[in-house]
Amino acid sequence: MQTTKTCAVIGAGPGGMASAIRMANKGYRVTVFEANGWAGGKLSQSVEQGYRFDMGPSVFTMPQFVDELYTLSGKNPRDYYDYISLDPVYRYFYEDGTHIVAYKDPEKFAEEVAQKTTESKETVVRYLRDVQQKYDLTADIFLHNSLHKIGNYFTGRVLRGILNFGKLEAFKTMDKSNRTWFKDPHVVQLFNRYATYNGSDPYQAPATLNVIPHLEINLGAYLPKGGMYAITKGLVKLGEDLGITYRYNTRVKRIVLQNNRATGIETEQNGVEPFDVVVSNMDVYNTYKHLIPEARKPKTTLEQPKSSSAIIFYWGIKHSFEQLGLHNIFFSANYPEEFDHITRKKQLYNDPTIYLNITSKKSPDDAPEGCENWFTMINAPHNAGQDNWDEMIAQTRENLIHKLSRNLGTDIRPLIACELIWEPRKIEAITSSAFGAIYGNSSNNKFAAFLRHANFSSRIKNLYFAGGSVHPGPSIPLCMLSAKITTNLIPNA
Ligand SMILES: Cc1cc2nc3c(=O)[nH]c(=O)nc-3n(C[C@H](O)[C@H](O)[C@H](O)COP(=O)(O)OP(=O)(O)OC[C@H]3O[C@@H](n4cnc5c(N)ncnc54)[C@H](O)[C@@H]3O)c2cc1C
Repeated sequence: MQTTKTCAVIGAGPGGMASAIRMANKGYRVTVFEANGWAGGKLSQSVEQGYRFDMGPSVFTMPQFVDELYTLSGKNPRDYYDYISLDPVYRYFYEDGTHIVAYKDPEKFAEEVAQKTTESKETVVRYLRDVQQKYDLTADIFLHNSLHKIGNYFTGRVLRGILNFGKLEAFKTMDKSNRTWFKDPHVVQLFNRYATYNGSDPYQAPATLNVIPHLEINLGAYLPKGGMYAITKGLVKLGEDLGITYRYNTRVKRIVLQNNRATGIETEQNGVEPFDVVVSNMDVYNTYKHLIPEARKPKTTLEQPKSSSAIIFYWGIKHSFEQLGLHNIFFSANYPEEFDHITRKKQLYNDPTIYLNITSKKSPDDAPEGCENWFTMINAPHNAGQDNWDEMIAQTRENLIHKLSRNLGTDIRPLIACELIWEPRKIEAITSSAFGAIYGNSSNNKFAAFLRHANFSSRIKNLYFAGGSVHPGPSIPLCMLSAKITTNLIPNA
């Protein structure tokens, strides 16, 4: 009798959904266990009084890594979800009244920067070429392969990256490198901002991370039709079409270990169930803490400082603002001070940089007519046990209302029709992200990439990890790559 091998995936975050799809393609019978009553993890949505809000990710880059799951499964991604390319991508507002529009075409963006600042178009173009080169040198080392398998270091492309180590600027900070390129503080601040894409601090994080603007500015940013949540809906549907079982409202409370081998999982509802392979998409810190407390912990990896978190006010706004686009940034007048508060003081700064995302600019159904769905986010420290969160959040709400009202020339307070809030404690409660850190370990340390947990356990057989808290790191595209690296380590059923 032929038996089908089984795989349990713990968590239906992007990395969990992608792992499940890849395992189904490898011939496994896959069950996804999800603690919430919905899929997506941070890539989820809420609807309130006719306003639809994407709760987490809002910037979609490298969509080809999501599409790959469909083509691998013999399906046309466009039958499941679709997306548009954005132009312009961002609108930047500075406290001194400077306003820079980031156009899709890198040359046009460089021209705009030259017009609005003291930098030349040529310097911006050269910078964008440089970050592309950095990406080309690093992608194979840091993104596409396991960093924890020695054999992966001996491929031509990886060796080329290692030989060009100096160009990666691992021993300079992002800010320092950006200041050697640009003298105009507006431009330095604009490029320093990309540190926040993985919860880092540009005054500490290695300049290698200056590859991030390449992904958005050179390769482009996209918006799924129907909003970011369309990615989740598409992946769940693909999973179901492949025969994957999703069990919602089912928290895994233990991974069963026997003789250093994962043999199943345990839930409140069904007790112990055997599985041949277990892939944990739960934050790796909490996987060790809650699901395998008896296992020896990789201390150095788990005890790295955590990334930043965020506070998001999801506001239904009874007005439409012509000067705003889909992605808007209102910069702090003092960026170093803002990051000193987030990283060192673990407090909120009173003039934070505000990221304002409005999907109804492109998807009018996301808000009632003449209204907008505002995703108003600031970067925040993770929950390090501060005892003044409620106070800080209330103060931040006031600061945001004042700053946005001032910049927009309209008092927004009476326009707020409804409100939802996510903050570090809530993010941990809803997604099990340790300390409410959005991006796992922080990347402020130059060795951070090597100190993320591997996609497998070297001590426990048949246990694997995929998602933003493990290699290669956070964000939708990296979670897609995490699932790919992880499942490539597992033999076919
Ligand atoms: C506010 C915010 C803004 C962001 N912006 C962007 C952006 O613009 N672009 C971008 O690419 N990324 C962005 N990110 C980051 C991105 O959301 C994450 O990197 C990504 O969601 C991590 O995915 P994951 O697969 O690790 O799972 P997560 O999204 O963390 O989900 C994990 C899932 O596992 C489930 N789970 C955990 N433990 C258990 C258990 N024991 N049993 C059952 N289920 C369990 C949880 O309920 C959850 O559904 C943002 C995140 C946030 C919060």
